[in-house]
Amino acid sequence: MRGWNFSAGPAALPEAVLRHAQEELLEWGDARASVMEVSHRGKAFEAVAAQAERDLRGLLGIPENYKVLFLQGGATQHFAQIPMNFCVDGQRADYIVTGHWGEKAVKEAAPYAKPHVAASSADSNYTVIPPRDSWDLDSEAAYVHYTPNETIHGVEFHEVPDVGGVPLVADMSSDILSRPIDVSRFGLIYAGAQKNIGPSGLVVLIVRDDLLQRNPRPLPKIFRYAEHAAQNSMLNTPNTWGWYLAGLTFQWLREQGGLAAMERRNREKADLMYEAIDLSGGYYRNPVEPSARSRMNVPFTLHDSALDALFLKESEAAGLLALKGHRAVGGMRASLYNALPVEGVRALADFMRDFAQRH
Ligand SMILES: *Cc1c(COP(=O)(O)O)cnc(C)c1O
Repeated sequence: MRGWNFSAGPAALPEAVLRHAQEELLEWGDARASVMEVSHRGKAFEAVAAQAERDLRGLLGIPENYKVLFLQGGATQHFAQIPMNFCVDGQRADYIVTGHWGEKAVKEAAPYAKPHVAASSADSNYTVIPPRDSWDLDSEAAYVHYTPNETIHGVEFHEVPDVGGVPLVADMSSDILSRPIDVSRFGLIYAGAQKNIGPSGLVVLIVRDDLLQRNPRPLPKIFRYAEHAAQNSMLNTPNTWGWYLAGLTFQWLREQGGLAAMERRNREKADLMYEAIDLSGGYYRNPVEPSARSRMNVPFTLHDSALDALFLKESEAAGLLALKGHRAVGGMRASLYNALPVEGVRALADFMRDFAQRH
């Protein structure tokens, strides 16, 4: 039997999406083959690809002057590819670092830009968001990069920061589609699919047209976003299976009532989790400043780490999967992405109260 899956990524997919894919796995439409076994340049796949883009545009309200790309390489490749495409050698790019992934993005940018950490909450072990008026931004920077949701530390921006006229670049790998956003505030949004979109191996990138005009260095076509945009993400063979599943997820999101409905549900789930932690009398703890707490990833520790192994063993036996925390933070982590129903979070909160009673 499937359990409630709290994995941080690759993460739970909507059960309805998996069933749909299962039903047509062997014979997809009229293809007499699976979707994985047909040409990406055939009419049938092209229709799926275009529909997925239309649905994503509808869900996020993506304006006309943005391209949507379906790429590969994971978010990690794009840590490097973004400065490669948008910075001349040694040009300053500002980074707001509120956790592990922001740190990585800075390191990967270094060969192509001069990444400047304009603000960091490393001093607090990434439990706060540095106040906006403390950020050391340069109006000449190539862009400002931030991580709206830090998946490991469980720190989330609840508002889009104002960075003036400099393009804002966001690694939305772990919170894209979790609530409505105003895409026009961003120059570039990118997200690895395996948290809130589909299977790993796919990266969705939403980029404003004017950024694609930048041409800071000679690059192989495969690394140039403008080339991918000109070829509708079919410069070479895309991840067709990932693109198809992403499309099914977008349809599922529409059926759920879109992103406003997801936001309500995600808030309810996060409230259940933080309540179970905060009302435990110190049995469970989450270190993040309340205004910066993530709705997607909830790290927590037990008052005595000697109980960790037992907590994991009993929770797994109760059908609550993948709660072990990241080694950088320790303890537990419950990831509450779109595909995890409220019911699953209720089961975890009940389990936590029961566990605290018994141990
Ligand atoms: C998971 C994650 C990444 C890394 O993604 P890969 O696909 O493994 O490269 C980067 N940024 C954030 C915010 C993530 O959650």
